[in-house]
Amino acid sequence: MATGKINVSVDNIFPLIKKFLYSDHEIFLRELISNATDATLKLKHLTAIGEAKVEYGNPIIDIKIDKEGKKIHLIDQGIGMTEDEVKKYINEVAFSGAEEFLNKYEDGAKDAGIIGHFGLGFYSSFMVAHTVEIITKSFKDEPAVHWSCDGSPEFTIKKGKKEDRGTEIILHIAEDSIEFLEDSRITELLTKYNKFMPIPIRFGTKTETLPKPEDAKEEDPAPTKEVDNIINNPNPAWTKQPADLEDADYSGFYRELYPMQFEEPLFHIHLNVDYPFNLTGILYFPKLTNDLNVQKDKIQLYQNQVFVTDNVEGIVPEFLTMLRGVIDSPDIPLNVSRSYLQADGAVKKISSYITRKVADKLNSLFKNSREDFEQKWNDIKIVIEYGMLSEDKFFEKADKFALYPTVDGNYFTFEELQEKLKDTQTDKDDKLVILYASDKDAQHSYIEAAKTKGYEVLLMDSPIISHLMQKLETSKEKISFARVDADHLDNLIKKEDTQISKLSDEEKEKLKTNLEEVISGKSFTVQLEAMDSSASPFIITEPEFMRRMKDMQRSGGGGGMFGMGGMPEMYNLIVNTNHELVGEILNTKTAKKRERLINQSIDLARLSKGLLKGEELTNFIKRSYEMVK
Ligand code: ADP
Repeated sequence: MATGKINVSVDNIFPLIKKFLYSDHEIFLRELISNATDATLKLKHLTAIGEAKVEYGNPIIDIKIDKEGKKIHLIDQGIGMTEDEVKKYINEVAFSGAEEFLNKYEDGAKDAGIIGHFGLGFYSSFMVAHTVEIITKSFKDEPAVHWSCDGSPEFTIKKGKKEDRGTEIILHIAEDSIEFLEDSRITELLTKYNKFMPIPIRFGTKTETLPKPEDAKEEDPAPTKEVDNIINNPNPAWTKQPADLEDADYSGFYRELYPMQFEEPLFHIHLNVDYPFNLTGILYFPKLTNDLNVQKDKIQLYQNQVFVTDNVEGIVPEFLTMLRGVIDSPDIPLNVSRSYLQADGAVKKISSYITRKVADKLNSLFKNSREDFEQKWNDIKIVIEYGMLSEDKFFEKADKFALYPTVDGNYFTFEELQEKLKDTQTDKDDKLVILYASDKDAQHSYIEAAKTKGYEVLLMDSPIISHLMQKLETSKEKISFARVDADHLDNLIKKEDTQISKLSDEEKEKLKTNLEEVISGKSFTVQLEAMDSSASPFIITEPEFMRRMKDMQRSGGGGGMFGMGGMPEMYNLIVNTNHELVGEILNTKTAKKRERLINQSIDLARLSKGLLKGEELTNFIKRSYEMVK
């Protein structure tokens, strides 16, 4: 037996390791299983090229908990190590790695920017163990080695008693880490980090229910048997070629990733690139709601099938973090802060590759099965609209397939829309006026009025739609959006046959004064217009600009632009001078009766606009009952 001193200048690195990596203790298991996997894959390679003259077989990695002995055993059937290799790789390499790590992070290890401490390697076992043993036998014909270290830089090394090839790591779990002696905790970690690792991982056995035999009685229990509890799927869908996968394989993999998710994804995108960087993965479009915040952190990042994190911020463009699935790339630097990550050239390329692939997939869906695409539009629009707003490259592509549905459920691309509206919906400057509603029920009377005039009304109800409209208005020539209740339609859209007013200028003047007297103090601007006598006598509109600013402030995008204060309330009261009721108001002799008529009419207009609320609404209803009784 030999003893020695691990060559590190820090006297006792283990308390330091614990201290610096406190929150991440659980990753020891991932690290040790990664080493076991590497050792097995190395052997696979060496046997494949004929350099190792041993049977590769069907190696697995075993995890065993010895609760009484307070130990965890990790056993692999990989290449193992000779004594020289233990000295070199464990005493020198692994521990110099530890020291290097500490030097690097001494000042800022807890910087929230560090993404998992990937690559900590073997010494991370000292985060949970007071003593670690390695019993290993190389595939080369050399005796087994037994190495042990109790957390001080002193280690012992002696001949081991292992007959079969591979490495067993024994962790003597420290008092403050006994949680890791619980089966449930280890199962949790194995499913989090190792679910798709390439070598099968066995954690004990499990009971499997078998089908009942034909002649079994009703009350007989179904037979069971003990089977190996294999934790992982070593060949997950994303590691395969798209050509070898059916739709069912993709939806099956989705359920593997999200066992609690019962809804099928709408479609998937298989990512597969090996130049100028390596990346594989599958992204899924789930059904999305209009809420931008609740659905993030569903994409999982892997490196060579080892789970790293489910926070892909900085790697996947923001708008795509609403998707689900897996990205696997060894080319993403991990021991760096987020801001560094975003500036990294390779990561930028990865991000724009993903954006491009998503755009291409959407485009081909649109081209090849438009009907299906239209049906899914409502569930995917939030991602597309958000992408169009945040990434110019994506905007360029999505502009060809982004859809604009009408309130009647017809879908147009922007180009189709322009073609459709160019002769019927332009203003006096020949600008296209695109009418839209944001809420079919609340704006019902306005939508109906527009449809009666033969106008097309879009339904645009995403929370970020105001921002997108702004973007479209500035990036396209001669178009403007106006909500159906933004202004009187005849003012918005140029029309040939203007109505002639039944009222004289004098009468108009008088009417205006009458109205302004009654509504003084309310923020209405009175506008008299000659319309068809069948149109509403009073219509309330809210200028597009004002309302949109308010919307944008609410959704956060325009925040700060206008200081702290909200936008003032400002409405137009449009009065149809050709309506019978308006004529009646004008001809009413007593001021009191006139006032009553005006108030009741305006309240009706406000009701239709959804502005009548609370006490005013209660009073209005009371007053109306009085009138009909
Ligand atoms: P890394 O894995 O990043 O190289 P580690 O500290 O985890 O660093 O391990 C150091 C070295 O020890 C490995 O590169 C490998 O050569 C060797 N090693 C660790 N675990 C095993 C194992 N289970 N079987 C064989 N060799 C191993």
